[in-house]
Amino acid sequence: MLDSLVKFFQSIFSFLSGGSNKKDTTTTAPTSTTKPVPPPEVIPVTEEELPEIEEVEPQDGSDIPVEEEQEEIVLINAEVEELPIEEPTTPYGNNNTSTNENPVENPTPKHEPKYLWILDNGHGKNTKGKRSPKWSDGKQLLEYEFNRAIVKKIIESLEKEGVKYHNLVPEENVGNILKTRVARANALKVKSDLPSVYVSIHANAGPENQAGGWSSAKGIETWYYRTSLNGRKIAKIFQKHLIAKTDWVNRDVRTGMNFYVLKHTAMPAVLTENGFFNHKTEGRQLLSEETRQLIADAHVDAIMEIEKYGFIGFRG
Ligand SMILES: [Zn+2]
Repeated sequence: MLDSLVKFFQSIFSFLSGGSNKKDTTTTAPTSTTKPVPPPEVIPVTEEELPEIEEVEPQDGSDIPVEEEQEEIVLINAEVEELPIEEPTTPYGNNNTSTNENPVENPTPKHEPKYLWILDNGHGKNTKGKRSPKWSDGKQLLEYEFNRAIVKKIIESLEKEGVKYHNLVPEENVGNILKTRVARANALKVKSDLPSVYVSIHANAGPENQAGGWSSAKGIETWYYRTSLNGRKIAKIFQKHLIAKTDWVNRDVRTGMNFYVLKHTAMPAVLTENGFFNHKTEGRQLLSEETRQLIADAHVDAIMEIEKYGFIGFRG
């Protein structure tokens, strides 16, 4: 039943869009193994919540060949976010469901969560490419592993802060599964009593990565969807904290590319590109625990700023 529904929508969309042979959700493992790779799952929460089937679009800056960057971007007219989002009126709450084991030593009232933070780790083990060249000692950065390490550190901090979050794709043996990411996020939004914000976490690659080379580009940038005013404000807050924590090259907030998860999520969404993994020195730093902690902390700083003050009034 599900299969035939999916095929039906695929055939409709393929007809409407003129068809394409991109097959992001059917990637196979990058290295051969003896075990066949199971097909990536598609997990709509219920059949009624099936997302529209649409061609997968670029997820990273490094996915877009240079000559395609100037292509006309399709504008969507409708702002799909609920706008404006209700701002928190009390920055600090008095939630008594504290899990403090020793309330006498630790009497600080727990933070009252204001948003549901949907944390997207971008790729899985089965994503093709997305890896640095090897350093002379044989080490190599795999982007999916980096992204997940950052998400894990963010979660550790959000747990302590009492902030509500959802780890969107905890499974490792998947590809990009962008449609599933969006379907899960949009279903979460429907169920959540708090407004949700989508944060997709990545590391970047310069165009040299296509040929397996080292990049000259470095630094941090944060993306939002071009028609999303809320996304822009949130992106600016994340970018501000990422640069403050790392002091890396500030590539600013960006828009204009059809990042699938930014375009199709029904809530404000940002995508952080935390340094270039194929820059020889910056990529090496991305392997280190210290740098990973800084990057995670910067995300947490941005989240806490928004938890406390909202983002509607942010100017910067
Ligand atoms: Zn990525």
